[in-house]
Amino acid sequence: MIEIVSRERCVGCDKCVEVCPTNVFDTGADGVPSIARQDDCQTCFLCEAYCPVDALFVDPRSHPLPQPPDERALAAAGTLGAYRRQIGWGRGRTPGARLAVGPALNRSGPPLTS
Ligand code: SF4
Ligand code: SF4
Repeated sequence: MIEIVSRERCVGCDKCVEVCPTNVFDTGADGVPSIARQDDCQTCFLCEAYCPVDALFVDPRSHPLPQPPDERALAAAGTLGAYRRQIGWGRGRTPGARLAVGPALNRSGPPLTS
């Protein structure tokens, strides 16, 4: 489920707002989208895949975390935007390469395959 929109990283492109199939985000007055309807999140990772600056974190569990995750810790661990990186989206990457040969997504929660 979507947990974080990083105010430090977001450039206000609204891609996440556009691609979310369940209209979870509202466009922010300051350009940074807000998570307005978290319960509607389908944990599809589309927003994280499309975010060009790795400003989003979708936790693989299908329920909100009891405590919001620590954005700085996630950033330090390279977890913000990790889904986009692992599917090979973004300049200079090869789409699908990592998923074809690499391990299951390394997220803070249980593996997606379990
Ligand atoms: S994970 Fe999917 S459903 Fe959830 S906020 Fe992102 S795009 Fe929307
Ligand atoms: S896709 Fe990323 S940069 Fe664009 S508005 Fe959403 S969080 Fe911000």
